[in-house]
Amino acid sequence: MENFCCDRPNPVLQFIYLMMIGGIYYFISKTCFNYIPGYYLSGVHRYTSLLAVGVGVLLFLFTSFSDPGTVKAENVSQYISAYPYDNVIYSEKECSTCKIPKPARSKHCSICDRCVARFDHHCGWMNNCIGERNTRYFMAFLLWHFLICIYGTVAIGLVLAGQLKELRVVYILTVYYGIENSFRSLVPHIVQWLLASYNTQILMMVFLAIVSLLLAGFFGYHANLCLTNTTTNETFKWQDYISWQKKLNEARASAAALKAGISGMRIEGEPPKSKWRSIFRKSTTENVQVTKNNIYDKGFFHNLLEIIFPLSMRSSFLQTKSKSG
Ligand SMILES: [Zn+2]
Ligand SMILES: [Zn+2]
Repeated sequence: MENFCCDRPNPVLQFIYLMMIGGIYYFISKTCFNYIPGYYLSGVHRYTSLLAVGVGVLLFLFTSFSDPGTVKAENVSQYISAYPYDNVIYSEKECSTCKIPKPARSKHCSICDRCVARFDHHCGWMNNCIGERNTRYFMAFLLWHFLICIYGTVAIGLVLAGQLKELRVVYILTVYYGIENSFRSLVPHIVQWLLASYNTQILMMVFLAIVSLLLAGFFGYHANLCLTNTTTNETFKWQDYISWQKKLNEARASAAALKAGISGMRIEGEPPKSKWRSIFRKSTTENVQVTKNNIYDKGFFHNLLEIIFPLSMRSSFLQTKSKSG
């Protein structure tokens, strides 16, 4: 039982993903393929849709079974040379479990029981960590699945539009039913006709549209992290660091206020200072800005390159490092 829980690697979510993508593709092919080729879609979409799903599954397998950047005794020096310690959120340490030095930006994954370079997060769906070497596959996976969902939504929309055209619905509505030939008066009748005749297809279209929005959000979040060269793990680290620094500043400010109060009591004969001045002074000490200084952020273009060609895998980087070191 213990082996089959969330604190150990298990492939349940991987199976669920495969069942889902396979099931959805099968269902869409059953309900929509008999309308392809249609007025707006050529027969080639029967094959391109299969190809799109196939590439999606391939990206899933790549992300699931690729090495995220496992840090071992034999490669630890390579990972250490990739990123310097910033001495803010990362300082030189040893992993208490692996008994090897911890490269900057790495983390020990408690589920996989290994240290992973540039650790982002442990992905349950992939049953793998997302780290320095497979963030690119993970991002490609998200982007591709977003595009598949958009493709599916548009394709089903075109199937329905094609049916509308082929069955001459507008013509029938205006000529036989005497409905005014304007967008406003036709739309309710067309929607009614679509809902009555193609409810399964409409359901699939809405489902794919919702999933594509969710994927867009998820991809956007991770793309922003990639372009600022921050990992999900680091966003938590920075949050902790900033809240800790804020607390420290508050403690310093109240200690200073206490000190000022004591010295004020000593010089009782002095005239009281302006109330506004003291408020202003208080607010300036409290608003000391705690900023995130991410030394790994090398600018939009270099950050993107780092995702596509991880630092620890670049031969040029390693050679220059070994020359200088
Ligand atoms: Zn470790
Ligand atoms: Zn893991």
